[in-house]
Amino acid sequence: MKNAGQRTVEGAVSSRRARKSSYLPAAMHRWFLGVVLVGAALILGACQKPVAKPLEIAQNDVCFRCKAPIAEKQYAAEFATKDGFVRKFDDISCMIDHAKEKVGVRNISAYFVADYGTKEWLKGEEAAFVKSEKFKTPMNGGILAFKDKGKVQVLAKNYQAAVLTLNDLLGGEVK
Ligand SMILES: [Zn+2]
Repeated sequence: MKNAGQRTVEGAVSSRRARKSSYLPAAMHRWFLGVVLVGAALILGACQKPVAKPLEIAQNDVCFRCKAPIAEKQYAAEFATKDGFVRKFDDISCMIDHAKEKVGVRNISAYFVADYGTKEWLKGEEAAFVKSEKFKTPMNGGILAFKDKGKVQVLAKNYQAAVLTLNDLLGGEVK
């Protein structure tokens, strides 16, 4: 008797559902499905790729590695660690050395470098780097970053400088 009772309840619920959904036109179903799919894609995307943003250099900021004031943004760099810290540096070489020697590349989630020409932040992976001891940077790392890869080629030619990527600077540890 018990089993029969349960079956009746289930049967009643499913037939009510069936009746309800039959009132919705098919177009409405498709619209609803679309909204759900787009929503799911947005949520998944947001979870997989937290948007990291660079922090602006403030007036009294000092290099996290060498403690010198960060006075010239065109040489500045910073990285965000996976546990949520942003570390700022006065020279790209300070950032690279600190990433490799102290923090560990696997513990870093994002790198930013200032474009030498415009002083705008660039994602480290999207910047082109040019390195020469003839470039006088705050800590004599001699590394400049640019968005414009054409400028880098010209500088490299004029100064017999090396053209590098972030991956090269980090010793091939980032893909
Ligand atoms: Zn420094």
